[in-house]
Amino acid sequence: MKYNSTRDNTVSATSAEAIVKGLSAEGGLYIPDEIPSVTLDEINEMASMSYTDRAKKILGLFLTDFKAAEVEDCVTKAYTKAKFGTESIAPVYKLDKDRYVLELWHGPTCAFKDMALQILPHLLTTSVKKTGMDREIVILVATSGDTGKAALEGFRDVEGTKIIVFYPESGVSGIQRLQMCTQEGENVFVSAVNGNFDDAQTGVKEIFTDKAYAAELDAKGLSLSSANSINWGRLAPQIVYYFSAYCDMLRGEEISLGEQVNVCVPTGNFGNILAAYFAKLMGLPVKTLICASNANNVLTDFINTGVYDRNRDFYTTISPSMDILISSNLERLLYLLSGRDDKKVAAYMDELKATGKYTVDGEIFEQVKANFSAGFADDDKCRDTIRRIQDEFGYVIDPHTSVAVAVHEEYAAATGDGTKTIIASTASPFKFNGDVLTALLGGEEIEDKDEFELLRILAERFDLTVPPSLGQLEEKDVRFETVCDKSMMKAVVNEFLG
Ligand SMILES: *Cc1c(COP(=O)(O)O)cnc(C)c1O
Repeated sequence: MKYNSTRDNTVSATSAEAIVKGLSAEGGLYIPDEIPSVTLDEINEMASMSYTDRAKKILGLFLTDFKAAEVEDCVTKAYTKAKFGTESIAPVYKLDKDRYVLELWHGPTCAFKDMALQILPHLLTTSVKKTGMDREIVILVATSGDTGKAALEGFRDVEGTKIIVFYPESGVSGIQRLQMCTQEGENVFVSAVNGNFDDAQTGVKEIFTDKAYAAELDAKGLSLSSANSINWGRLAPQIVYYFSAYCDMLRGEEISLGEQVNVCVPTGNFGNILAAYFAKLMGLPVKTLICASNANNVLTDFINTGVYDRNRDFYTTISPSMDILISSNLERLLYLLSGRDDKKVAAYMDELKATGKYTVDGEIFEQVKANFSAGFADDDKCRDTIRRIQDEFGYVIDPHTSVAVAVHEEYAAATGDGTKTIIASTASPFKFNGDVLTALLGGEEIEDKDEFELLRILAERFDLTVPPSLGQLEEKDVRFETVCDKSMMKAVVNEFLG
C-alpha cells in the first residue's frame, strides 16, 4: 500500500514516510491508495481478541511497510492496562437498548486524544528508523489544552524524541494547566506564552517555517516535527476502536454478526468521525454516521447543504475541543467522495483559503447525504442533556459527549431510525468538572471551590471515582513555571535543546 496526497495523486509514499512527514509538500494530506477490507468472518474472529490484538490486525492493514513485529511492538507499548486502567482500553457502556457509549477517555490524560497520542510516538520513532533518517525528533506543540497534555504523556521518555509544549497563559482550564506544569519525563519542556492560543500557535508556526533555524537544528542532528491531528499516524489508530466497539457488542450478544449500527461522534477537526467512515469503507456494518457539533456548527451546515462556509461568528463553548471552524480532516473525505479527484480537492482548498468558503458538486453532496447526518447542540441543550442522562441512567457524561447524545436524540426523533448506535464519548466528566457540576447541581453550589474540591464533589455526589491521574495532581510538584513572550519562544526552545 502506498500513500497519495489529497492534492496530488502523483505523490507516492510509504506509511513510514507519511508518518514522518505529516503533511505532503504541496499542502495535501496523506491518504492510502486503496482501502483494505475486513470480512464479517474476520470481524467475528476479532470478537474474541484483546484490544491490542484487534489493533495489530487493523493497523497492520495500513502499515504494510512495517514488519508484523514492529506493529506489535508499537501497539503493546501504547495500549497497556497500566496506562488505561482497564484491560478493554476503550470499553462500551450500554446506556439503554439502542445506545452504546464508547468510552475513549480511559487513557492517562482523560480525553480521547490519548487513543492516538499514546501510540503516535512509537509509530513515529519506528518510521524514523525505517526511513533511515538518523535524527532526533523535536516535537513542538501549541495547545489550547487537551492535545498538549496528551502529546506530553505520549512522548515522555520515548527514546529519540524531545517535546516542547506552549500553552496560552490566559486560556487553559485550571486542571489543564496543572496537568501540563507538573508533567514528568526527562525529554519534556512546557512553557506558558503571554497571550491567547493564536499567539502560541503563530509563534510555533513561525519556528516551523524558519528555514535557517531548521538548518541550524539539522546540523545538530535534530529535526522538528508536530503531533498534529492531520498526521496519518494519528488517524489510523482511531479506526481500531470502531471495530473494537462492534466486536464488544457482538461478544456481548447485543447485535448479531452483520447487523448494521449507527455511529454518532462529537466532532471538531473531523478526525474521529473520518476514522469511523474508514471503518465503514473497510466493511464494518455501519449505516449512518451522525456528525454532532456545538454552536460552531459549520459541519452541520456543510452536511445539510453541501456548502462549507467558515465566515461566521466563533463561539467559545463548554465543549472547547470542538470550537473549530476549519475541520482539516474533511479534506480526506472530499478526496474519497470525489473519486480521488486531487485537482478538485486542491481547488476547494484554494477557495477555502481565499474566500473561507466552497460548495461541493452534486455528486459529492449526494454521497455526503447517503453516509452522513448532522446536527448541533448549544450549551443550554448540552447542560440539559448532562442532567437528564444522569437523572435517568445515573451516568455522568462530559459536555463533548453530551453534544453527541443530544444530537443523536434529535436525529432518532426526526427520522424514526431506531438502529443501535455507538456514541463516541471523548472526555471524562472529571476533566470538565466545573461545567458538568454546573449542569448537575446549578452554579451556586460550586462557587469559590477549587479544582480539587470540584473533583471530590463530583465523585461523592454521583458515586464515581476520581481518575487517579487527576486526583494525584494535587500532590505533584510544579516543574515548569516559565512564562515567555511570543518573541522569546525560539529562545526557550534553544535553551531546552542546549
Ligand atoms: C479533540 C476532541 C474532539 C474533536 O475530535 P475531532 O477528531 O477533532 O473531530 C471532541 N472531544 C474531545 C474531548 C476532544 O479532545
